[in-house]
Amino acid sequence: TRTQDEEDLPHATKKTMADHLRKYESVFTLTPQRMRMIVEAFKDTLELGLQKPDQIVPMIPTFVFGFPTGQEQGDYLAVDLGGTNLRVCLVSIQGEGKFEITQSKYRLTEEQKQDDGQKLFDFCAECLKTFVDTNLADADAGHELQPGEMLPLGFTFSYPCLQSKIDHGELIRWTKGFGATNTEGRDVAEMFRQSLLKYNLPVVLTALINDTTGTLIASHYVNPKTRIACIFGTGCNAAYMERVGDIPKIKHLGIDDSAQMAINCEWGAFDSFEHEHLPRTKYDAIVDDTSNKPGEQSFEKLISGRYLGEILRLVICELIDEGVLFLGQNTYKLEVPYVFDTAFLSLMESDPTDELLMIIGIFSHFFAVETTLAERQFFRALAKLIGRRAARLSACGIAAIVSKMGYLDEGCAVGADGSLYNKYPGFADRIHEGLVDIFGEKGRNIVTYHAEDGSGVGSAIIAAMTKVRKDAGLT
Ligand code: BGC
Ligand code: MG
Repeated sequence: TRTQDEEDLPHATKKTMADHLRKYESVFTLTPQRMRMIVEAFKDTLELGLQKPDQIVPMIPTFVFGFPTGQEQGDYLAVDLGGTNLRVCLVSIQGEGKFEITQSKYRLTEEQKQDDGQKLFDFCAECLKTFVDTNLADADAGHELQPGEMLPLGFTFSYPCLQSKIDHGELIRWTKGFGATNTEGRDVAEMFRQSLLKYNLPVVLTALINDTTGTLIASHYVNPKTRIACIFGTGCNAAYMERVGDIPKIKHLGIDDSAQMAINCEWGAFDSFEHEHLPRTKYDAIVDDTSNKPGEQSFEKLISGRYLGEILRLVICELIDEGVLFLGQNTYKLEVPYVFDTAFLSLMESDPTDELLMIIGIFSHFFAVETTLAERQFFRALAKLIGRRAARLSACGIAAIVSKMGYLDEGCAVGADGSLYNKYPGFADRIHEGLVDIFGEKGRNIVTYHAEDGSGVGSAIIAAMTKVRKDAGLT
C-alpha cells in the first residue's frame, strides 16, 4: 500500500516534493506579460530576416509561388529525410483536394546522422530504389512505369537551406543533432542527384522543400483557410505565405511584387547566441552547452521533442545530487544524457491511475529505480510544467506571424504536425490558451489543427505546381 511504500523507502516526503515543485514552477512558468514581450521581439526578428540576408532567423524564400489551385494532378515520388526517419512515398494527386498515398519508412541510425553526408544521401537513394522496384512495377502495385518514363521527385529535407530556385538548396547548418560531414554549405539537392545517378533511378528531382513548406501547401489544399504551417516534432519551425514586395532582400530578382511566395522561417533559431528574449533556465543552458551546436537553435531547444525529456532528466539529476531523490538507490541509468525520452513526458501526463502506475513502470522498467507516490506526482507535475512552457512558447511564435501579417481580426487556421503536436496530451489546447493569454478573446480566432501530411502530399503538390510553372515557361 501507499503508506508502507512511503515508510519503507528513505525517499522524499510529500511535503518536501511540494516545496521543490514550487521552485520549478517559478522558473518554468510564462506569464502572459512575458509572452507578449517575446512576441514583440519575435516580430522584429521576422521582419529583419525578410529585410536582410544572413540573419539568425533566416526567413528563407522557398520559390514556392502561392497556394495550389486544387487542380494539380499526377503521380509523384517523395523522399522525406526527417529528424528520426526516412520516408519514401508515391503520391497520386487526383485534384479537388483528393489524393492517394503509398509509403515505406526506414529508421536512420545515429551513425548515419554523423557519418559522411554523401553516404547519407546514398542511403536515401538506396531506399528509394527498393521502393521503386516494389511499387512502380505495375499499376496494381501503385504506378506502372512506362519505358523511358521519369517520375518527378520532391525531396523534403527538414533542415535550413538557402534557396535561389526550387530544385536547389545550400545547407546553412544541421539541426536536431545531425552532424553529417562535408554537407554544410553545400547544395544538398545536387548531392542527392549524385546518389540518384549511382542507383540509376527513373526520377527527376524537381523540388527541394522544407517540411513546413510542404505542410503549408498540403494543409491549404484540404483546408483553404490555412495561412500558417508549423512543425512541433523532433525540431520545430513554421512557414507562411508572404507578398514578394514585402521581402526586401529579394528585390534584385525582379519578381512581381504582388506574387506570393512561401517563407520557411526557421524560427527554431530565434534568440540564438544572444539569449536575450527567451526565459532560459540553467537546465536549458546545460542542454545547449552539451549539444553538438552550442548557442544555436535556442527557441527549438526549449520546445521540441528532441530536448524536453532531457530538460526533465536534468532536473531529476539535480535532485539526485542534492540528495532529495532516490537516496540509497543506484541511479546510474538516469545519469546518461538523452535517456529520458520525451514520449515519457507524454505518458506521465496521461497516466489515468490514482497510483500513477505508468510512472512506476517507466522508472522501474527503464531506470531500475523505485518511486513513492509523492515523487511520481512530482514527476508528473514537472512534465506538465515543461510541456506547458513548450506549448506557450510555440504560441508566441504563431502569434508573431499572426500579428505581423494582420491575421487576428479575420482569423486563420494553422496546420500543425509533428510528434509533439500529435501525441503530447493537451499540447494543442495549451497553444490555444497561450494565444488567448497573448491576444485576449480574439486569440480564439486562431485555430491550430492536425495538418495534412506535408512531406508526402505537400511535396507532391509542390512538384505538380512546379511542373505547371515550367510548362508555362516560368522558373
Ligand atoms: C529545422 C527545420 C525543420 C524543423 C522541423 C528544425 O530543426 O531547422 O528546417 O522544419 O526542424 O522539422
Ligand atoms: Mg518530419
